[in-house]
Amino acid sequence: MKVTVRFAPSPTGHLHVGNIRAALFNYLFARREGGRFLLRLDDTDQDRSTEEYARGIETDLAWLGLHHDLFAKQSDRIAEYEAAAEKLKAAGRLYPCYETAGELDRKRKRQLAQKKPPVYDRAALDLTDEEKRAFEAEGRRPHWRFKLANEDTSFDDIIHGPTRIDPNSLSDPVLIREDGRFLYTLPSVVDDIDFDISHVIRGSDHVTNTGVQVQITRALGATPPIYAHYSLLLSVEGRPLSKREDADFSLRALRDAGYEPMALNALLARLGTSDAIEPKLTLEELATGFDITHLGRADIRFDPADLDKANAAFLHMLPYEAVQRRLADVNCDLGGAFWETVKPNLARFRDVELWARVINGPVEPAIEDAAFAAEAASLLPPEPWGPDTWSVWTNAVKARTGAKGKALFMPLRLALTGLEHGPELKNLLPLIGRKRAEARLSGSSL
Ligand code: GLU
Repeated sequence: MKVTVRFAPSPTGHLHVGNIRAALFNYLFARREGGRFLLRLDDTDQDRSTEEYARGIETDLAWLGLHHDLFAKQSDRIAEYEAAAEKLKAAGRLYPCYETAGELDRKRKRQLAQKKPPVYDRAALDLTDEEKRAFEAEGRRPHWRFKLANEDTSFDDIIHGPTRIDPNSLSDPVLIREDGRFLYTLPSVVDDIDFDISHVIRGSDHVTNTGVQVQITRALGATPPIYAHYSLLLSVEGRPLSKREDADFSLRALRDAGYEPMALNALLARLGTSDAIEPKLTLEELATGFDITHLGRADIRFDPADLDKANAAFLHMLPYEAVQRRLADVNCDLGGAFWETVKPNLARFRDVELWARVINGPVEPAIEDAAFAAEAASLLPPEPWGPDTWSVWTNAVKARTGAKGKALFMPLRLALTGLEHGPELKNLLPLIGRKRAEARLSGSSL
């Protein structure tokens, strides 16, 4: 089977960690299966869709490296949806309804009061042509509902296994609004058919839609794709992610906060599976280990601490060649030894700026015991300095002053770097060099 999958966001807001999972899962699935990845903008809601959000989606996907092979947007394909709607009308599966929102609401309340499920009663199917004309004469325009068939609507979900939707528990869905605009359901089915979508991988909030879409697909004479519905990502407290409360988790915000796209990819590809979250250099490597059937059905929580961990793990595995350009871009390319020395201390890439300053200065040395520092300075070995210099030097300082352990190392660290914590001094010292080390031990900020 030729695999084609799609990511189909509506450009009505910014992408966040929750909805980007659809993009990532579909992308990785396509890569692993040697298939194609379609980016489709579900922009039939003209009131809420904007160009700016559409551009934002493309920027976010490019940042993550999730490049698409095909592109479509629903606003370009209205003629196809109209043709499909005509086909459904001709088959008696799409029927006009004239109830106002208020009337529908009253019906629903009545049903609920009688302890009945609030399913649309199909009263519109009994309208005579004359009654319809009378409504039209009143100025009413119809909305159109798809007539669900009372037939077995089951599908074999990759994650949930066999899933059955009882069509009797659902209202016939409205496909076309009274202003003639299509709601999401029919365009989505028509696109899935026309673009030969083989697998629909999306959140479990769409399971009921799937029941409806399976029926519409069949009514249009096509075979439904294979479905996989994964559990939604919740906040760390266990509530659904919200645009307002979780603005920090928009892709834009995460990018500005300095997270690595591949750290986010590695985390999101494994959250909700029992596979280990491991840093990967490339999406190809991530795709190799990605198995959609490993996604479980349990709730998944997004804990920003996990992203911090994934981000650090990613930085800590990066070889110098992979970051040389980025280091140069921020004026911090101090060579491979510098990178290897400081990278275990990085939480975000931008932390390299701090460590470059610790090497090149200026550093404000913190000296409590000037005599001790002067003694240590006088014992600095001659250059060239290498990996053994630190132990040669500190052994000499220890022998002369009697200081050992923390009392020996902490004053030296504070004098040399101005900080209590940092990369191993054994590696830092040769990078700082004799001239700066000597100056700092005597209290000057070099
Ligand atoms: N535009 C829909 C959404 O964002 C697409 C759902 C789907 O069919 O994958 O929820």
